[in-house]
Amino acid sequence: MTNPTAQTRTPLVDAHTHIFLWGENPREGYLSERTRRSWLTRLIIRLTGIDREQGETLSEKMRHRLLRHLEASRIDYAVVLAQDAVYRHDGSRDDASTHFYVSNDYVLDLAKRSAKVLPGCSINPWRKDALSELERCHAAGARLIKLHTAIQGVDPERKEFDPFYARARELDMVLMFHTGYEHSCTVVSQRYTDPGQLARPLGHGGVIIAAHCGTCALFDPEDYYPAFVRMMQRHDNLYGDTAIMASLIRWGSLKRLSLEDADIRSRILHGSDYPFPPARLPYLLRTGLFPPERRNPLDMDLRIKQSFELGEGYGDRVLELLGLGT
Ligand SMILES: [Zn+2]
Repeated sequence: MTNPTAQTRTPLVDAHTHIFLWGENPREGYLSERTRRSWLTRLIIRLTGIDREQGETLSEKMRHRLLRHLEASRIDYAVVLAQDAVYRHDGSRDDASTHFYVSNDYVLDLAKRSAKVLPGCSINPWRKDALSELERCHAAGARLIKLHTAIQGVDPERKEFDPFYARARELDMVLMFHTGYEHSCTVVSQRYTDPGQLARPLGHGGVIIAAHCGTCALFDPEDYYPAFVRMMQRHDNLYGDTAIMASLIRWGSLKRLSLEDADIRSRILHGSDYPFPPARLPYLLRTGLFPPERRNPLDMDLRIKQSFELGEGYGDRVLELLGLGT
């Protein structure tokens, strides 16, 4: 018997989630020694209660937790992002400078295990084989590529990246750029996270997502959000996602976004930044003290963000951008 509600309900998509790998098999992915020891990694491990999860290794436990939450969630699909390594400008891989790595094969494989997972591959455009990796990911079913400007050392304005941007456009691949100061991992440069620097990829005409809408933390020396708004006004192929924006250190950023005009809000996409959990305290008046969603960080994050006026296509527009809309 079919469920009529399931057929008519608009799907809900989380366009920005992560999986971490501890490094038992470094070819699949790893966190560097420095990242493993950082206070934030230790805090996330504590907050997520990962030890109680099923699995032999920490990586298995993290994967189990993601799939368990996703399965139980209102979210119908989640883009799970890979994270490419740092590359030198001669195209060679720099493992010593790579502190967070998740291979494309790992997320492509995850998508085969769960119908709710959409693979978000990651390619550092400095790598020698960037174009063939782009084609390989496309052939394997990925429609979104993440470029981590700060961690991967990718300055979006480099003219050397034009062939990469052009090929992504030809293949109708969405390019997601990290924007706004990065705090969770060692960075090459925060300067590359300014959304004002996205003019070159935007000029190729394909869909570009500015992850985090250029928002920075309250204590950062700069605020890139005004540059995000300016770029949104100039380029109608630019979108923003709300990943990490329900965190304490970005207090006020969702409210600010919800006050933008309708044209900007119509290009805002839901993203959580799972496994980073949303803060509940600033949103108690919106969600109540004990919302039923509190046991599932994916649902809790969605509940908080849906309490703001973030445009009609907030929960599902990304499907259309990925060529998966109906
Ligand atoms: Zn993220």
